[in-house]
Amino acid sequence: MTVTENLRSVRTRIDDACRAAGRDPSSVTLLPVSKYHGIDQIREAHRAGYALFGENRVQEMAEKSEALAGEGIGFAVIGRVQTNKAKQVAELAAELHSLDSLRLATALQRRLQGLGRRLPVLVQVNTSGEPQKGGIEPSEAPEFAKQLAGLDALVPMGLMTMAVNSPDRAVVAACFATLAAVQAALRDTTGGGWDELSMGMSGDFPIAIEHGATTVRLGTAIFGPRG
Ligand SMILES: *Cc1c(COP(=O)(O)O)cnc(C)c1O
Repeated sequence: MTVTENLRSVRTRIDDACRAAGRDPSSVTLLPVSKYHGIDQIREAHRAGYALFGENRVQEMAEKSEALAGEGIGFAVIGRVQTNKAKQVAELAAELHSLDSLRLATALQRRLQGLGRRLPVLVQVNTSGEPQKGGIEPSEAPEFAKQLAGLDALVPMGLMTMAVNSPDRAVVAACFATLAAVQAALRDTTGGGWDELSMGMSGDFPIAIEHGATTVRLGTAIFGPRG
């Protein structure tokens, strides 16, 4: 299967999951996750109609955006960002899905101001209780949102999470339901917004769509296993 064929079949599965959940297929965006895969595969996906790609490491994102400069391709950073990488994210990223600390937010604000740029961000929430997954605690979200409101170069679009990797569907679903509940709480305290829910990966995206995902981040299902 080629990348183009995989994109087509995975998009069909997304559309099917939407219909099964009573949702409009156009309400879910597919973000291809290109981490560890080469620029030729990104180019192939671009020819198939995709212009934004997920990368979890800032260094890799920087290398790829240099290699693909001028080709109309952008990157969403989806992995943990060290504060000392804020400059590269501010300069190069089209979106950040993994904002998880006020320290990082403040560093980004300063860099973005210097560049006269604004950056769409999603706040990563840890819905699994697994420390290696990163993200703020669900209960911290309203306070974090309040603090972000003072940083005008960051444009809060919504929330992101990674579910537990489990064969138990209910355990996975609970993570996605938690993110939706955090969204509802934030809408209450901030008066609306937070529309984007970035959740669902190759192994669990139909469950995420059932629980309101607006972006699913798929790597393996499109590009194959990562070495
Ligand atoms: C790698 C990665 C994905 C994609 O995972 P697949 O299982 O390959 O689809 C999604 N989100 C994040 C944050 C990732 O790091």
